[in-house]
Amino acid sequence: MSDCIFCKIIAGKIPCETVYEDDQVLAFKDITPKAQTHLLVVPKKHIVNLGSVQDDEWPLVQAVLKSIKKIAEQQNLAGYRVITNNGEKGGQEVFHMHWHILAGDKLPGF
Ligand code: 5GP
Ligand code: ZN
Repeated sequence: MSDCIFCKIIAGKIPCETVYEDDQVLAFKDITPKAQTHLLVVPKKHIVNLGSVQDDEWPLVQAVLKSIKKIAEQQNLAGYRVITNNGEKGGQEVFHMHWHILAGDKLPGF
């Protein structure tokens, strides 16, 4: 997707602070952190959000969730919150599926 910010980050056209990468997943620091630790985990394939996942794409969602577990271990997070916003009314601003990892004192929301 040529006009997608996260596709540009994945393609290396926009810089980011990468914390994890494998063949299917990229994780990087959120540019406007809302917690002490605020990471974004994205599939390298452009998928709009959870609501648009096709039947053959569920293994990719599993890969994202598995990477979240790995990242939390690598970053030594004592505990963490995972959020994925779906659709404009769900608070989604970037329409490339991503999972927020939030950790640290005084987590926002919920
Ligand atoms: P959403 O509201 O769609 O769930 O979250 C989008 C997130 O992407 C926001 O927390 C926002 O700070 C982050 N973000 C937007 N543009 C960029 C960018 O260019 N680089 C990085 N690292 N994060 C971004
Ligand atoms: Zn994209």
